[in-house]
Amino acid sequence: MPTTDPRRRVPRTDAVLADPLLADLQSTVGRDRVREAVREGQEQVRRGDLPPELLVTSVADELRRRSRHTEVLNATGVVLHTNLGRAQLAPAAVEALVASAGCTDVELDLATGVRARRGRRTLDALARAVPAAGGALVVNNGAAALSLVLTSLAQGREVLVSRGEVVEIGDGFRLPDLIESTGVRLREVGTTNRTRLADYTDAVTERTAAILKVHPSNFRVEGFTSEATVAELAGLSRERELPLVVDIGSGLLRPDPVLPGEPDAATTLAAGATLVTCSGDKLLGGPQAGIVLGAADVVERVRRHPLQRALRADKLTLAALAATLGSATNPTHEAVHASSDLLRDRAEGLGRRLGAAVVPSVGRVGGGSAPGLDLPGWAIALPEPYAERLRLGSPAVVARVEGGRTLLDVRCLPPARLDDVVEAVLAVRGQLAEPEGASGA
Ligand SMILES: *Cc1c(COP(=O)(O)O)cnc(C)c1O
Repeated sequence: MPTTDPRRRVPRTDAVLADPLLADLQSTVGRDRVREAVREGQEQVRRGDLPPELLVTSVADELRRRSRHTEVLNATGVVLHTNLGRAQLAPAAVEALVASAGCTDVELDLATGVRARRGRRTLDALARAVPAAGGALVVNNGAAALSLVLTSLAQGREVLVSRGEVVEIGDGFRLPDLIESTGVRLREVGTTNRTRLADYTDAVTERTAAILKVHPSNFRVEGFTSEATVAELAGLSRERELPLVVDIGSGLLRPDPVLPGEPDAATTLAAGATLVTCSGDKLLGGPQAGIVLGAADVVERVRRHPLQRALRADKLTLAALAATLGSATNPTHEAVHASSDLLRDRAEGLGRRLGAAVVPSVGRVGGGSAPGLDLPGWAIALPEPYAERLRLGSPAVVARVEGGRTLLDVRCLPPARLDDVVEAVLAVRGQLAEPEGASGA
């Protein structure tokens, strides 16, 4: 027990509110919210859970935490970490978000003063990036793109899909459940490990409205396996006049030699797909979005479906996506393509500044893309207790715990933020050096 009763040392409300830090916050979040947070803080002081001298900063931190997510520096080596919000945006995309925060010409032609095609700059950028696509549409995410497309083309009818491609995309969400929830019947053909063109051909009836091919992006089936190719299915699609929809998942627009197993939009359309659907925030490296590319008349049919209005992308997404498409590179591309030598240099720089060992570290693309693909890289190694403390910092640094050590993999750390990482590690080192219970917090 402390010698003085903490309850006697609870700072008075008016004195706390007069502190410049909190006075400032009152003008942004409002007086009532600050008062309420101060009351809660005083209660913590009364209970002896908070030293009175930390009341003001604790209240200010708490108020800031309530109104925004904590920034995270990704030291996991996983490029598209689902729990960390997947792709980190390119600087141009961040600028575009800020520039679009107010009113923009998202749906207005400034030259004529009349309404224009919504998000036309984004759609034009997509058309330039994938010339094989006659039309393009942007919705909220990849799952929305797929369900909107199938609903528009096949509501009340059947879609053929291989048994080996009926996948769960994470957190218990299964593509078949999502698709069927809008009144489309999935007709599974073939087997889990082998599906042939004939399996599709034999399954076509007058109820069939489309053929679906899904890239099994988050797992790999090995051994005695085969799937009908897009080109084979395109033949059937033309013959029977059934649209062929291919969900490629990751948003790779053109082939990438580093990712040989990942399908891309241009190649898939060239092989004869009617429509391609994908995410904007996986390998494309943009904001969360769902993209539909392909035959102009079919895209237009999808755009005209009433559900489209409920799934369409907002102005911020459209702006960030256009800027991503207009950038030569982005953090996702950099992280996937960073050479082992470059990463080693970066890790050694960090290791020198922190007196930490530099060790090899295997990164991943993540986000359900390129499963099983190792990205050889480098990390610095720290004692295991660092991981939790680093995670609780601001910005939080999320590392990987492996073999009883905390590994900070440099692959996804923005080079401009390495100073912040050094600062975070030094702060934790200070905390861990203090004897137990003396930290004050
Ligand atoms: C990721 C993924 C989805 C879902 O996309 P979201 O953008 O997460 O909604 C759908 N299909 C495939 C093949 C995927 O990889």
